[in-house]
Amino acid sequence: MTYKNVTIAGSGVLGYQIAFQTAFHGFNVTVYDINDAVLGKAKAKFSSLGEAFKRDLNATQQQLDKTFQNLSYTSNLLEAVKDADLLIEAVPENPEIKIDFYTKLAKVAPDKTVFVTNSSTLLPSHFAEATGRPSKFLALHFANSIWIHNTAEIMGHNGTDPKVFDAVVDFAKAIGMLALPLHKEQPGYILNSLLVPLLSAATSLLVNEVAKPETIDKTWMKATGAPVGPFGILDIVGITTAYNIDKIAAEKTKDDLKIKTVAYLKENFIDKNKLGVATNEGFYNY
Ligand code: NAD
Repeated sequence: MTYKNVTIAGSGVLGYQIAFQTAFHGFNVTVYDINDAVLGKAKAKFSSLGEAFKRDLNATQQQLDKTFQNLSYTSNLLEAVKDADLLIEAVPENPEIKIDFYTKLAKVAPDKTVFVTNSSTLLPSHFAEATGRPSKFLALHFANSIWIHNTAEIMGHNGTDPKVFDAVVDFAKAIGMLALPLHKEQPGYILNSLLVPLLSAATSLLVNEVAKPETIDKTWMKATGAPVGPFGILDIVGITTAYNIDKIAAEKTKDDLKIKTVAYLKENFIDKNKLGVATNEGFYNY
C-alpha cells in the first residue's frame, strides 16, 4: 500500500464515517472542514461512532484509542493537504461547491496527492479539469453506515491513470471495504443503477393499484431470497429520497404514471411526515 496520509474533506454525514473507518485501519487521517465549529461537531460524533464499532465489529478500547490518535483536524486547506497521499472529497452534493473546492485544492495540494470524490450522483468527468490533475482523479463511493454497509464503488473517468485506479482499489480493501471496480462512468454506479429501477417499478405497481406493498414485498423476498422487499428498502433509504428522484424523472419525462406517483407519495407520505424508519412510520410501522 503506497498511501499513508489521508485527508478527508467534509466531515458531514459521510465524511466523518470515512475518516473514522480510515483511521481505524491505521492510516494517518486529517479531517478538513470549513471552520472549527463544524469540526467540533464531527469530533463529538466520533465518540458515538466508536460505540457502534464496539457493538457491530467487536472493536476493542485499545483499537479505538489508536483510532483517535490517528485523527487530526484542521480548517486550513493548505495545512490539511500538505502531506496527503490521498484526499477523499465528501463536501455537499452541489456541483458549484465541488468545483470551487477542487479549484482551491488544486492550488495548494502537492503533486503526489490523488483526489477521489464520494459524490453519489455527479460524474468524475464533471470535475476532472477543476482538479488540475485529471489522471490522479476518480470516484470512490461509500454507502451510509460504512462500517457495516462496507461497499466501495470505484469509478474512473476517461483520463484516470489505471495505476492510480488500482491503487485506490487497494486502499479501499486496506480500510476494510468490499472494493467494487467499475470499468466506465455510470450515473448511479452499480448499486443505484439496479436499485432505482426496482424501487420505481414497485411504486408503479402500487400507484397502478396492482397490489398492496406487503404483497409486492413478499413476492420479491420469497422469490429471490432477499431479506427486505422494495417498500422495506424505501422505508430504510427514506421516502423523501424516492420522492425527489421520482419528481426529477416526472419533470423530465412528463410520464403520466410518474406524475401520479409523485402526487401519491406527497399526499400519503411527505405531507403526513411518514418518511420511513427515521420517523417510525412509512410503508410499515417501526
Ligand atoms: P453533508 O452535508 O452531511 O456534509 C458535507 C460537509 O461538507 C459538511 O460538514 C460541510 O460543512 C462541509 N463543507 C461544505 N463546503 C465545504 C468546503 N468548501 N470544503 C470542505 N468542506 C465543506 O453531506 P454528506 O451527506 O456527507 O455528503 C457528502 C458527499 O457524500 C456528497 O457528495 C454525497 O453525494 C456523498 N454521499 C452521501 C451519502 C449519504 O448517505 N449521505 C452516501 C454516499 C455518498
